[in-house]
Amino acid sequence: MAECIFCRIAAGEVPSTIVYEDEEIVAFRDLSPQAPTHILIIPRKHVPSVSDLEAGEEAAMGRLLRVAGEIAAKEGISESGYRLVVNCGKDAGQAVDHLHVHLLGGRRMGWPPG
Ligand code: AMP
Repeated sequence: MAECIFCRIAAGEVPSTIVYEDEEIVAFRDLSPQAPTHILIIPRKHVPSVSDLEAGEEAAMGRLLRVAGEIAAKEGISESGYRLVVNCGKDAGQAVDHLHVHLLGGRRMGWPPG
């Protein structure tokens, strides 16, 4: 989608600090980090939200989590722990309508989330 900011980042049209990329997935540092490590992991394919996932996309979504784990290891937060967050829709505060996994770590986090 030409107007989607995350599609534009994945296409290299908008600058970002990319920490991982392959044919299906791109991961980059959040512009407004909420923890010492705050990385967004996205599919290159424009899927607005988890609610829009279709049959056949399970493996691709599973890869997002696997890549998140690999990035956490590279960031040195596997042992201390980290949180993966996927905001879906208005009540969750989803601001960008391109499915993304937040990888947050490097500090202690509270529960329940706000
Ligand atoms: P969400 O509220 O789950 O939709 O999260 C969207 C996230 O995208 C927020 O944490 C923003 O700080 C982040 N964000 C928005 N625009 C950019 C950008 N151009 N580069 C990096 N992160 C961004």
